[in-house]
Amino acid sequence: MGMYDNADGRIRGRALQARRLRVWTKNPHCANCGDLTDITAGTDRPFELDHTVALTNGGEDTDENCQVLCLRNGCHEAKTRRDLGHRPWVAIGADGWPIDQIPPGEVKV
Ligand SMILES: [Zn+2]
Repeated sequence: MGMYDNADGRIRGRALQARRLRVWTKNPHCANCGDLTDITAGTDRPFELDHTVALTNGGEDTDENCQVLCLRNGCHEAKTRRDLGHRPWVAIGADGWPIDQIPPGEVKV
């Protein structure tokens, strides 16, 4: 997530911890798979707050636009990939190896 650090104005630190508690208290279940998550430090059921509508897609940085996504089942990672527009499939090049970082419509040379 480093690419957005300090550049998007989203809340951090103490304010973010307070939001985590508010949103998690309202619904501690993963918004994707429904698993119960745990806010306790060192838990084996950690979660991340996710913007339901990603900020990059015009979403607001508010509690109402936040949801709980679990890390254990990879739900947060999968949502982040979708938000960034990455495709779930991997293109295979003529040499038989996966092609990555090639935008759709462009041809590898
Ligand atoms: Zn989940």
